[in-house]
Amino acid sequence: MNIPGKMKAMVLEKKGEKLKEKEVAVPEINDRQVLIKVSACGVCHTDLHIIDQELTEPKLPLIPGHEIVGHIVKAGANVKKFKAGDRVGVPWLGYTCGYCKYCKRGQENLCVNALFTGYTIDGGYAEYTAAYEDYTFHIPEGYDDAEAAPLLCAGLIGYRTYRMAGEIFENLGIYGFGAAAHIIAQIAVHDGKKVYAFTRPGDTEAQNFAKQLGAVWAGDSTNPPPVKLDAALIFAPVGALIPAALKASDKGASIVSGGIHMSDIPSFPYNILWEERVIRSVANLTRRDGEELLKLAPEVPVQTEITRLPMNKANEALDKLRDGKVDGAFVLVN
Ligand SMILES: [Zn+2]
Ligand SMILES: [Zn+2]
Repeated sequence: MNIPGKMKAMVLEKKGEKLKEKEVAVPEINDRQVLIKVSACGVCHTDLHIIDQELTEPKLPLIPGHEIVGHIVKAGANVKKFKAGDRVGVPWLGYTCGYCKYCKRGQENLCVNALFTGYTIDGGYAEYTAAYEDYTFHIPEGYDDAEAAPLLCAGLIGYRTYRMAGEIFENLGIYGFGAAAHIIAQIAVHDGKKVYAFTRPGDTEAQNFAKQLGAVWAGDSTNPPPVKLDAALIFAPVGALIPAALKASDKGASIVSGGIHMSDIPSFPYNILWEERVIRSVANLTRRDGEELLKLAPEVPVQTEITRLPMNKANEALDKLRDGKVDGAFVLVN
């Protein structure tokens, strides 16, 4: 395959600026990386947190994007799992060291030397991207490239969040009904859970969307659900939802926050945490999360609700996401 020297990419040059369409060099790969011709890249809330400077340490200039799907055009000399032509996906966690204390105890998602796709290494808002073999996954059949893209972050982080809620529960609250929630709701319903969907007050469109996906109840986040929740997943970056979910929860419930950034959590009386309720966050993902979700998704089967836009419309997609004007997810396509 003929690999050009230059490619088009959407680049964040300076903090606080919009992305610019630029011609840049196609990335070089090392022995453990693959070069991927990108066909689709999902737009994630984390991209907004980077561009809006809530995540403060991006490499600059930066090519954002960490829900990447494409085909391998070149594999490094020590790459074992993949060959040219394979269809693959690349998630947020892009590299771990394998030797820090977290890696050694199986918490690679907390690696101190981790690199993050579209944040500390270049991502997928481009025609090509380089990715480490360890954090590249085969994409299951049954999805076209753009449909598969949201599985790589919304799906994966959502899945880890869901997994951290435990296994034995019936009534699951999901706060913030966007890209992650729409994937996890389908998995939860498939697992026999009852899903209660909470949206911004008055967002009947998102509430109807949740019901279409099998939620037994959907309503405003300011209103109590008809039953006490056994677990709650929080995908909206709104700290006030933590005490709201605690108040709506039953004894022993886990409240799990899936976001990388959240506004401050207001103080709350101890009695809403009492009776062994748990609050926890999830960070990043592990390879196990990736392998499990990409096996499970076609079995459910999870359907992803996407809106396709050309790669050079990235700013438009980000602006609409900031305003909350999307069901499911935007996917940029080449
Ligand atoms: Zn490590
Ligand atoms: Zn993401």
